[in-house]
Amino acid sequence: MNSLLNRRVLVLNQNYQPISIAPTKRAIILLFLEKVEVLEHYREFINSPSLSLQLPSVVKLKNYTSFRFRDIGFTRKNILKRDHYTCQYCGKTNVPMTLDHIIPRRRGGKETWENIVTACMPCNEKKGFRTPRESNMKLLRIPKKPTRITFFQQHVKKHQQAWKQYLFMDRK
Ligand SMILES: [Zn+2]
Repeated sequence: MNSLLNRRVLVLNQNYQPISIAPTKRAIILLFLEKVEVLEHYREFINSPSLSLQLPSVVKLKNYTSFRFRDIGFTRKNILKRDHYTCQYCGKTNVPMTLDHIIPRRRGGKETWENIVTACMPCNEKKGFRTPRESNMKLLRIPKKPTRITFFQQHVKKHQQAWKQYLFMDRK
């Protein structure tokens, strides 16, 4: 039962804007306070002597909450997270990662979301102080500043397929 209560619930604003991923426990409290309606359920039920409740998976606030996301911090951790901890040159994952300046710093490259990517050590070394073009190394994707949605999308696990339609992910 405890592990069920620690499941994640996608919380949407009244206009369906995804605003957070909360523990089930929190969603159930909101449900009892009649602050949310349940849009999607997990298969499992929570059973207690006094109630049987199907576990919510996606809930929507009944009243619109004006809500501003804090900007996603420009940090090493968030760059790695954006790039799925995957080398953006060779696609390797599960190896020690470094951050690579696409245009090297000494050649005027900036400290921005668009100029820094995750790279494995061999790729970073191979590229050295050259641009991708000079080193003939192609980026897997053009790096951009991530949005909150990008990070929410990364939380979607097998049993959360129902989230996809709310997170602008293709159903394929
Ligand atoms: Zn690599």
